[in-house]
Amino acid sequence: RLYNEVIELKGNIRVFCRCRPLNQVEITNGSNYVVEFDSSQDNELQIISSDSSKKQFKFDHVFEPEDNQEAVFAQTKPIVASVLDGYNVCIFAYGQTGTGKTFTMEGSPENRGVNYRTLDELFRLSQERSGIMRYALFVSMMEVYNEKIRDLLIESSNQPPKKLEIKQTAEGTQEVPGLVETRVAGTEDVWDLLKSGSRARSVGSTSANELSSRSHCLLRVTVKGENLINGQKTRSHLWMVDLAGSERVGKIDVEGERLKESQFINKSLSALGDVISALASKTGHIPYRYLFSASSLGGDCKTLMFVQISPSATDLGETLCSLNFASRVR
Ligand code: ADP
Ligand code: MG
Repeated sequence: RLYNEVIELKGNIRVFCRCRPLNQVEITNGSNYVVEFDSSQDNELQIISSDSSKKQFKFDHVFEPEDNQEAVFAQTKPIVASVLDGYNVCIFAYGQTGTGKTFTMEGSPENRGVNYRTLDELFRLSQERSGIMRYALFVSMMEVYNEKIRDLLIESSNQPPKKLEIKQTAEGTQEVPGLVETRVAGTEDVWDLLKSGSRARSVGSTSANELSSRSHCLLRVTVKGENLINGQKTRSHLWMVDLAGSERVGKIDVEGERLKESQFINKSLSALGDVISALASKTGHIPYRYLFSASSLGGDCKTLMFVQISPSATDLGETLCSLNFASRVR
């Protein structure tokens, strides 16, 4: 009964695709829908190109525009549970700006996303296991922009700001010394913390969406467990990452600062691609080049990638790029 929620995962990497609904502007402009779902299959979709040819993609699960946050989390839950068994877990949202990465991860008070639901589930499960295990949960939040790390919880912690760097440990994992870790004891603590983190994220930018399209937002939950019967201790990380927009250089403004930003984003996204490919092919060698090659993507890590897409004909090119990238992962 205790561990019945932890179903066996096929491999260490799963890929979910989520398609957002057409937005108001697209509806007003009469944009065509280029994504087709198969009502009898929940893991396939087809993209209809401008010449009417169709290309099929398969993932571990495909979420249609009607699928709500509960439906998404129902599929995400089993992976989340494994962090309490000592696995490192990484969940990240990848895709073009405006396709729902932040909606999936963060959501809103009426439509809470994976971040909040995950913590809620961890509290629920740790309560359920309290006869055997004692758990303590800590939350950190940071933003990576042009390879610089900003601590999003520093303000709410009353600690002086520190220069943050990613350090590789002897075990081959990566740590961020000095990053604020806030202990959370229950769901009530979490929403305020997440809110203050995302508020800190938008400070200093002219438009939150503009910045979020160029920076990665990382939420890390550290789970410390102690087995009350044999005293064995575990420590694991759960990363939940809202990646920078995946749109290529060229589509966004490519002058000066913007170009530099795009290059950093592309570099980190392609490093992520390398890491994932290495893990997927099990060649053993994982290029620990960047944050996403961090402890989150180590050997015993379970990874879930959301590839977010738009249904609109106007985004067809980016949609195909994202789906092709995500297909390489599996
Ligand atoms: P991104 O973070 O990828 O740039 P957002 O999460 O900001 O994209 O989503 C863009 C807009 O689309 C937001 O207004 C968001 O509320 C809406 N949206 C995204 N996904 C969905 C969805 N599945 N259902 C309803 N609205 C969505
Ligand atoms: Mg966003």
